[in-house]
Amino acid sequence: MRVAIIGMGTAGVSILRQLESHSYFKELDIDVYDDPQNMGQGVPFQNDSSQLLINLPSKDMSLNFNDAAEFFKWYENQNQFKFDNATYLPRFVFGHYMKSYLEKFDQEYDNIHLITEKATEMYLEQGFEKDAKIQYFVCTNHQQEACRQYDYVFLTVGTMAYHDPYHLKGLKGYIKSPYPTYETLNDVKDTDNIAIIGTGLSSLDVIRYVVKHHPNLPITATSRHGEFPSVRGNMIDITLKHITKENFDKILRSHFGVVPLESMIRLFEKECETYDIPLEALIHRKVGDPIKDLKYDLAHPEILGVFQSLLETIKENMNWIWNSLSLQDQEAFMKKYMPILKANSNPMPPRTARLLIEEIEIGHVVVKKGLEDVRYENEEYVFEYPDQGEPDYYNVVINATGPKTQLKDLDDDDAFIVDIANRQIVQAHPMGGIQIVPETNQVISPRHGTLPHLIAIGQITNGINQARNGVNMIVRQSVQAVESLYAFHQENR
Ligand SMILES: Cc1cc2nc3c(=O)[nH]c(=O)nc-3n(C[C@H](O)[C@H](O)[C@H](O)COP(=O)(O)OP(=O)(O)OC[C@H]3O[C@@H](n4cnc5c(N)ncnc54)[C@H](O)[C@@H]3O)c2cc1C
Repeated sequence: MRVAIIGMGTAGVSILRQLESHSYFKELDIDVYDDPQNMGQGVPFQNDSSQLLINLPSKDMSLNFNDAAEFFKWYENQNQFKFDNATYLPRFVFGHYMKSYLEKFDQEYDNIHLITEKATEMYLEQGFEKDAKIQYFVCTNHQQEACRQYDYVFLTVGTMAYHDPYHLKGLKGYIKSPYPTYETLNDVKDTDNIAIIGTGLSSLDVIRYVVKHHPNLPITATSRHGEFPSVRGNMIDITLKHITKENFDKILRSHFGVVPLESMIRLFEKECETYDIPLEALIHRKVGDPIKDLKYDLAHPEILGVFQSLLETIKENMNWIWNSLSLQDQEAFMKKYMPILKANSNPMPPRTARLLIEEIEIGHVVVKKGLEDVRYENEEYVFEYPDQGEPDYYNVVINATGPKTQLKDLDDDDAFIVDIANRQIVQAHPMGGIQIVPETNQVISPRHGTLPHLIAIGQITNGINQARNGVNMIVRQSVQAVESLYAFHQENR
């Protein structure tokens, strides 16, 4: 059977690992696609500054579904990278751990072929006879001759390009994406005044790099709310007692097949009561001063850890939770509750919080909120705040507003996804990303219906897999997707 994996980051390598672990593996012929730089490492775990840390303790994040500590063991057994504090290792180290599997497999097996190019087009062919199988063609370089035929395709292309909320892309001094952070200052003069738009996780990454390497300080980090993510507390094991499939099934049966948002929230409140989480106090704990907010989190690792662990467990189960809601309730959830979920999940390591406090206190970083508009005038960026008379001026702007989630916002930076949407192979999900079957990750095409052998995993599925694209959740989806591939293979041998 001919298999393609398009995109060799976390999801792609994870799929390959699952494929390799099966006794029928040698019966597959596998092509994997990515550019030479990202092949095996992906974007979040690419080579970058060692200050950028993974957001889970090293012992809790791995590509092995049955061994969360596999990455840490790999780290301990190699000599290339060594760090004094390995509790949260740099992200690029995780990238090398992933890549080590790709390299090992590539050397060991002749049924894996690395194609060091990005896919540019994909199209389908299906004969007219009854039960005719769909064949998938993946192409590179926009050349028909460069198209290869497959029975099974994994679409693991990662995050979409960054938002450009103020339409500044292409202007001099505008850095459209903060990664790799060590390239952000390539064309920046020592005297330039720098602002970073966004105060989320990628903003933290770039702040830490720029503050250490740019002489003209302070730099400004600004956004509408000016709030940083929370700080990781002491995580615990959680067993959900109220948000369970059984309880959801009961509600679905009495509510025409959906779980009303209020019912879900009531169950969530009960979970909080079970774990003695002071929900109201925690969600309203921020006072709007970044130093006070970070210090509060650092001082309350126990209760925050329990809250974050609960949210993390809910995210792991988000596929059936999220897809039990009606579309209207999903929209209501996004407005009312998603900001709370976002602010309290994917927390930063305590070490990052301490560093940030230090940089703000010594005046290297200024955090601003209430950003209303950014314009480019006379070769300068003008930042407007409604409660500030005069605007602020900068020469360089680093965009850390996060990746796009909606297909309608994509442009040439995501040409492959635009292409397959244009060919009606994929279609937009109203909540973001593309339509897939939640249980199986099979793509739902507007032209061909459900495509059983086109499997999408990762950020591109964010409408269905809301908040469910961390490493461990991607691995879980890969395990199940590969089981389905082998079930099909066995039936057709
Ligand atoms: C900055 C950042 C930090 C993160 N840190 C963590 C963390 O610490 N822990 C955690 O659990 N999660 C983290 N995440 C979440 C993260 O999204 C996932 O963990 C994971 O890396 C995503 O895997 P992926 O395979 O979907 O994407 P990626 O790992 O980025 O892989 C996608 C790959 O597809 C390739 N590609 C794109 N288009 C094409 C094409 N047309 N043809 C061929 N190849 C293509 C890209 O080059 C890339 O290599 C982080 C995310 C970001 C953005």
